[in-house]
Amino acid sequence: MVKQTIQIFARVKPTVRKQQQGIYSIDEDEKLTPSLEIILPHDLADGFVNNKRESYRFKFQRIFDQNAKQETIFENIAKPVAESVLAGYNGTIFAYGQTGSGKTFTITGGAERYSDRGIIPRTLSYIFEQLQKDSSKIYTTHISYLEIYNECGYDLLDPRHEASSLEDLPKVTVLEDPDQNIHLKSLSLHQATTEEEALNLLFLGDTNRMIAETPMNQASTRSHCIFTIHLSSKEPGSATVRHAKLHLVDLAGSERVAKTGVGGQLLTEAKYINLSLHYLEQVIIALSEKHRSHIPYRNSMMTSVLRDSLGGNCMTTMIATLSLEKRNIDESISTCRFAQRVALIKNEAVLNEEIDPRLMIIRLQKEIQELKDELAIVTGEQRTEALTEAELLQLEKRITSFLEDQHPESKLEVGADMRKIHHCFHYLKKLLNDKKIHGTSIASSEIKDQSSQEPLKEEEYKKLRDILQQRDNEINILVTMLKKEKKKAQDALHFSSMDRSELRHSQSSPFPPGNPEGPRMLPPSAPPQAPDSSTSQYRSSLLHGKTGMKEEMSFGRQEAFEIFKRDHADSVTIEDNKQILKQRFSEAKALGESINEARSKIGRLKEEITQRHVQQVALGISENTPVPSTPDLLEEKLRSQLEEEKRRYKAMFTHLKALKVEIEHLQLLMDKAKVKLQKEFEAWWAEEATSLQVNSPAVNSLDHMKPFPQTPESQHERSQLLSNKSSGGWEVPDQGPQVVSCSDVYARKILPSPGPLLHSQEQSSPSTPLEDRIPERPVSSVPLTGDSRTDSDILAFIKARESILQRTEPTPLCPALSKQEGLSDGLQGTLMGETADLDPMMSDSCPERPTRSFTANSLQFRYTSSISATVRSFLRPGTRHLCHQPAVTP
Ligand code: ADP
Ligand code: MG
Repeated sequence: MVKQTIQIFARVKPTVRKQQQGIYSIDEDEKLTPSLEIILPHDLADGFVNNKRESYRFKFQRIFDQNAKQETIFENIAKPVAESVLAGYNGTIFAYGQTGSGKTFTITGGAERYSDRGIIPRTLSYIFEQLQKDSSKIYTTHISYLEIYNECGYDLLDPRHEASSLEDLPKVTVLEDPDQNIHLKSLSLHQATTEEEALNLLFLGDTNRMIAETPMNQASTRSHCIFTIHLSSKEPGSATVRHAKLHLVDLAGSERVAKTGVGGQLLTEAKYINLSLHYLEQVIIALSEKHRSHIPYRNSMMTSVLRDSLGGNCMTTMIATLSLEKRNIDESISTCRFAQRVALIKNEAVLNEEIDPRLMIIRLQKEIQELKDELAIVTGEQRTEALTEAELLQLEKRITSFLEDQHPESKLEVGADMRKIHHCFHYLKKLLNDKKIHGTSIASSEIKDQSSQEPLKEEEYKKLRDILQQRDNEINILVTMLKKEKKKAQDALHFSSMDRSELRHSQSSPFPPGNPEGPRMLPPSAPPQAPDSSTSQYRSSLLHGKTGMKEEMSFGRQEAFEIFKRDHADSVTIEDNKQILKQRFSEAKALGESINEARSKIGRLKEEITQRHVQQVALGISENTPVPSTPDLLEEKLRSQLEEEKRRYKAMFTHLKALKVEIEHLQLLMDKAKVKLQKEFEAWWAEEATSLQVNSPAVNSLDHMKPFPQTPESQHERSQLLSNKSSGGWEVPDQGPQVVSCSDVYARKILPSPGPLLHSQEQSSPSTPLEDRIPERPVSSVPLTGDSRTDSDILAFIKARESILQRTEPTPLCPALSKQEGLSDGLQGTLMGETADLDPMMSDSCPERPTRSFTANSLQFRYTSSISATVRSFLRPGTRHLCHQPAVTP
């Protein structure tokens, strides 16, 4: 049993601005417990009386300042816990702090860089590394991932890929058995045999969490996530099994409802936003008070689940994440205070050993039989009656399986029955004789067959075949790597189309969910493949199944997505990661080549040594001198070279394996970023679509369009585009809203789906400003391509359509339009045939029209969606549908 108080650590998040002077200081002098001093700035502390500086001092096991690396955090905080879990104790690490203080960054890691990976992936890596090293035990690892939101538990590892909201995930409930042990009903446990499999599960959970989050539930701030590694170990042949659990907990934001002002008031109790954190605090208070008998664990799901971690059988560690900016001072002080209370809690961790009843029964049965046999011998009881047919058959079966069992220590158990012992000898003798006769005949025929061949040749042949096989493998791997690299480059261009095909691909994924056969470690002897294709398939099936965006994107939407993607802040990260991935691929490739070189060099060295040996012996025979007993110098040299080469090979192999993990991680990060991007695009798109429906056509300009998240460059680019809008070959008057959107390149790119109406607009000539000719004409929001020929076709099309409309109407509706001409007959003909392709809204766009005629109405209703398709196909860059028609001259 290990008695230990909960370990508390503090981690300060880097500030956006340069370090804010004087807000805090870390005192490392005190050898054992360093302390963090938080100084309340004047303007917050001045309260009533004076300008005395108030300061607070908190002790922690260790304090990690702004520049602490993830690696350091892992080494100092998580590694010791992981070690005790490997030894069979339960462990918990939880991060506590206000939203944005770096809890998720610390526990899971940043979404951008490989070096930013947090405690979970590093711990997984460490644990699997240790398991591989230790062959004295048999280990099994399972993973579960639970999210608690509003007192409800959800299984984040739901393999059905259907969740689009939290409610779609399986609900998890807490059950308590009579011994007060907590069981989580419906929380799935997934076996992970390798680091990759475990990582895939982590990313599956994170993706599920991201998809399920809506602005309403803000799961990432308000929910708790508990990633659990369940480890069991058993020595071979023993019936005792050890179970240990490691909870890695990302708590909800600890911010409180009300900040009650300044000074002394500032730090008084205030309620948590999250009720379960309030209950957590109550449990912590109860535990830290000496004589409390009742601990209110049952008040909330989270405290129930973490019951053992708090004041129970567990080694627990808390990380207080602090964002020490001025406006966060009060929350930071609350966090530190909470930590001080937590530090008072004593836990008693015990080894969780359990006897496997199945194994125990087998062992006892065996023991009973042995004792009976012994007794029979001691009492000298002899049995004389013949063995039954069934007994004989069973005995023979045992002998057969005994002979087949390759284990050197296998035993033939027949008991102390002389009849059985005799029968065994008889039977074995019979088998031996049979084999002799049979064996000689086979052997002689083999000798005949092979008499022409020397046995050595056969061996050589086998060796050559092996080498051939190895080379084949290497070639295959290199080709796959090359292909993948090529594909990566192409993907940069065809991101979205790839996504769609991957989506389809993932639906036919060969790996059943929850039974990931795809990801697996290569056997150490096989040449390492940098990107394991089956793994990535599994990964994409995990992630892309989650998007819920199964429908095909229309061209316009696709185009919008392209732009959205380009301008999204995350695209920089994705690009960066792509670059790093590429680099890693080529590193892996180069490394693979060096490994092959090293391998063939090892082969050559071995051969040389053998030859040298043979030479020495031959020399000894020919000169009739015994082989010199002193070692041959050349051979020694060769041997040391061989050792050196082997070491190099091993080092490179290890490096390649690490690279593989990194590549896998980066790919997962990118997949996650892609899903996020697509999700945000869908949300933005849906929002735009609704606002377009809500807004009347006349106000259907770009003004209300919400810009999507952008990088500063893209904003700059956009403003440039806007300011240069008249330079695209179209003369656009500056004033008035009406024409702006028409030639706005940006508008073209945004392309809201069927919503926007088409209005007529004539190609303006410099001498006739547009508004002169189409007075009071409402805004046209026809998105244009920027290509002057295509655009002129589009405008001609619109004009022609207007005139068709006028023809079907008894009276000209818009006087301005009746004057319009300029479309070739051919084009008009085409358009006449396409009357059904007219926009239902367009008649609304003419304010001068008092009422609509029946004809116009029926036209409108006949016509709905195909217009958008037609227009959109116009708008695809490079598509010139009407090119074959006579060009329209301005
Ligand atoms: P929380 O989970 O506590 O709400 P996050 O972990 O999401 O906070 O952190 C908020 C932001 O700050 C993220 O963008 C994260 O990448 C960044 N961040 C947090 N801690 C660090 C750190 N130690 N170093 C760099 N960036 C950090
Ligand atoms: Mg978070």
